[in-house]
Amino acid sequence: MEARNFFDVWPGIFLVDFFRYFITAGLAFLIFWVIGKNHWRHLFIQKVFPQNKHLVREFAYSMSTVIIFSLIGFCIYLSVKAGYTRIYDDVAEFGLFYLFISFPVTVIFHDFYFYWTHRFMHLKRVYKYVHRVHHESTNPSPWAAYAFHPWETVIQALVFPIMLFSIPLHPIVITLFLLYMIVRNVIGHLGFEIFPQGWTKNKWLSWTTTVTHHNIHHERFHTNYGLYFTWWDRWMKTEDSTYHQKFDEVKSRPKISRERSKASVTISVFLITTAFISNAQSVEGKWTTYNEETGSPLSVIEIVKVDNSIEGKVSEIFLEPFQGDDPICSKCSGQRKDQKVVNMNFLWGFKKDGSEWTNGSILDPQNGEVYSSKLWLEDINTMKVRGYGGMMDLFYRTQTWKRIGTSENNSPVGRWHTIDDTWNKVKSEVEIIERNGELFGYIRKIFLLPHEGKDPVCIACEGKLKNAKIVGMTILNKFKQKGDKWEDGDILDPGNGKVYTASIWLVDNDELRVRGYLGPFYRTQTWKRVKSSTTQLGK
Ligand SMILES: [Zn+2]
Ligand SMILES: [Zn+2]
Repeated sequence: MEARNFFDVWPGIFLVDFFRYFITAGLAFLIFWVIGKNHWRHLFIQKVFPQNKHLVREFAYSMSTVIIFSLIGFCIYLSVKAGYTRIYDDVAEFGLFYLFISFPVTVIFHDFYFYWTHRFMHLKRVYKYVHRVHHESTNPSPWAAYAFHPWETVIQALVFPIMLFSIPLHPIVITLFLLYMIVRNVIGHLGFEIFPQGWTKNKWLSWTTTVTHHNIHHERFHTNYGLYFTWWDRWMKTEDSTYHQKFDEVKSRPKISRERSKASVTISVFLITTAFISNAQSVEGKWTTYNEETGSPLSVIEIVKVDNSIEGKVSEIFLEPFQGDDPICSKCSGQRKDQKVVNMNFLWGFKKDGSEWTNGSILDPQNGEVYSSKLWLEDINTMKVRGYGGMMDLFYRTQTWKRIGTSENNSPVGRWHTIDDTWNKVKSEVEIIERNGELFGYIRKIFLLPHEGKDPVCIACEGKLKNAKIVGMTILNKFKQKGDKWEDGDILDPGNGKVYTASIWLVDNDELRVRGYLGPFYRTQTWKRVKSSTTQLGK
């Protein structure tokens, strides 16, 4: 009799368990990981998406979990039939108030059960046999919701019979609980932070866990064990010390607009569209191209002489983190089609003509177009590159490229490491450039510790710079030369958003002093010149 029962009843239980997982995780995956992937890219907590093989693994383990859940479900079915559970059908038996209160009771009880069994599963001797499978996802997707080893599945499932045997529950409450459980579980593994800004610091809301909360558990293992609520982690001092900071960092990221990232690639490559020349002055060497609007460096171009003409390739592109790491030229034609932009030969055929190099071609890897171009040196360190476009080459655009590494003759121009006063650690790399006789400085790189996040923005800045990315930001403005010093400029501290009047001077060619004034007080920092193979080049 029981065998017949099993095949009559179990498939139904299996399908309910399967679709409960598949529909919830699948919808989350479809909405966030497929359709809205680019739209919400800035809210993706970790830097990169996991490889597909991890998603497949998560799904496969989840299938084994669904089977085990449905088997346990069948046992529960038998217990219900035999009258062993405390499930009741008549609302009137315990009243409406009890009906309403019993739902939060199930949620609070499950949270308690989860926290402590989770701590148990993290014990060294238990972990590797039971919980390691779930932690193979260090960057989980919605499919990880049920990605458990069978032992863990049994532990996770047991909470349900425990409640059914001890607490009187109406089928409505049981259904609600099962839905709540899977929805919160999938949200915990969503990867995108969907909770609103300020959530973790709100007196009332902060008790609910966010996506970042469980994501940190997957990334760092020994903190944030909680499921629905943050209180057990707070009481047991297992809340991650970077939790609020991480949440704020994710929520303060500016939205990535496609147009913006496209535009900057276009510019970087169009920059690739300029020129030089000269008598005794060589255009060979490495050159930095700049974003004309912001002045921040965009790419490094290397120019070499081949026979009587010159050729140039892209040797480095400074992309924003969200533009990916290694762009390819999808719009190019011929042998350049789908080739990597870095190392691509994009400038060729320039012939010397007096003080200019003319009749050359420059490819814009963004749109695959080739422009006729010429270039010339304005001085030994400055190259002008002009690209022609439109009908009969009526339109042109001229860019300025700066030679890398030759401005080291007692000028602050060049790249500098800023040093943390307290820890004597390199904090960032700043490039100082000269424009119309004044010095400006941009942050090229920041060296962060892992817990400090990946791509910080200036939260404390005001005006246009509010929430702008710190990398690429102009922090030194309008320093004018007076004798040995550069003065009357201002310096922005992206840490607190404050702007100070400042002056800078060289102690020797490799050491720069930067002094910021606040009323009668001042503070001086020492910056060290960046020594790298590229900066040595034009010597
Ligand atoms: Zn998890
Ligand atoms: Zn864990």
